[in-house]
Amino acid sequence: MKKLIFPFILCFSLYLSSFFRLTIARGGEPSPNRSGFVENSSVGSLRQLLEEDHFRKLEKLARGYMSNSEVEKAIKAFVDRCSHISRIYSIGKSVLGFPLWVMEISDKPGEEEAEPAFKFIGNVHGDEPVGRELLLLLANWLCNNYMKDPLATLIIDKVHLHILPSMNPDGFSLRRRGNANNIDLNRDFPDQFFPMNDDLGTRQPETKAIISWLREIRFTASASLHGGALVANYPWDGTENKQKNYYACPDDETFRFMASLYSRSHYNMSLSKEFRGGITNGAFWYPVYGGMQDWNYIHGSCFELTLEISDNKWPAANELPTLWEFNKMSMLNLVASLVKEYMEGYFHQIVEGLCLPLLQSRE
Ligand SMILES: [Zn+2]
Repeated sequence: MKKLIFPFILCFSLYLSSFFRLTIARGGEPSPNRSGFVENSSVGSLRQLLEEDHFRKLEKLARGYMSNSEVEKAIKAFVDRCSHISRIYSIGKSVLGFPLWVMEISDKPGEEEAEPAFKFIGNVHGDEPVGRELLLLLANWLCNNYMKDPLATLIIDKVHLHILPSMNPDGFSLRRRGNANNIDLNRDFPDQFFPMNDDLGTRQPETKAIISWLREIRFTASASLHGGALVANYPWDGTENKQKNYYACPDDETFRFMASLYSRSHYNMSLSKEFRGGITNGAFWYPVYGGMQDWNYIHGSCFELTLEISDNKWPAANELPTLWEFNKMSMLNLVASLVKEYMEGYFHQIVEGLCLPLLQSRE
């Protein structure tokens, strides 16, 4: 699986994870503090009231966010405006029949080339909508800066970038984590240790769409965008014995490089007090089973990160421009890191600059 060889990987090889506190975002059940849900409550009506209150709060927060049909319009408007570097396609439909639209961005969209493919997936969890907004901003920034900005030009010329702004449009419209069947899509993939998701009949249409997408396109790397913490998470997510331990996959160094590249390019992710360097091994944080990240690595040979890009799962919409600025360089650098020229050439100094603080942080 060692298909990515980063020339500067040695800079990161001694990097050790530290003692991270457990918080809930990418996995587990929504935490009572963050979501308003009370798990295991024996008082059903109280729980219902809290859920209704939670929904009302999210309804308020949804003002200023694009609805599903507005996201669809924005995707189509983007592809109309930037048809020279993009195309649109759907990988399937949600439970309620909403198309799962993807934008492909490349100088030769839809054509087979000897170039790496990268995918971004937003809104895996319905109540984590920041990613879908940022992905539309990313697509438009790339289009606006093609042939003007070297990084935009490099990505469009040398990568096939596929962007699925919302994997869970039904969950978004229901203002909740799961899909329309209330299934957590990031627990619905086949698992390497446990057979709980092996029954094809119960697999959700959104999950099936991702699985068949990976059979069609050979992605080199990818990232899914979540909220509820600020950290770049990498495999393995699960451990064989269900213990919370650092559980390294065979490409641990490459993954730590990718996660560090994201966190060091971010405005403040690497300054985290909770996660040393702003990165974490998934199983060390807390084990997750049936997640999309490990499945991508095992079955698609695709290096996937799970990016938690906002402590607040559903921040007010007026914070979106700031969140975009905080994540912009991280997103661009992560995609560009698949390109040999980027790693060896004129961005050499940036990468060296990233390397130094990491070495210092080991002391
Ligand atoms: Zn999530």
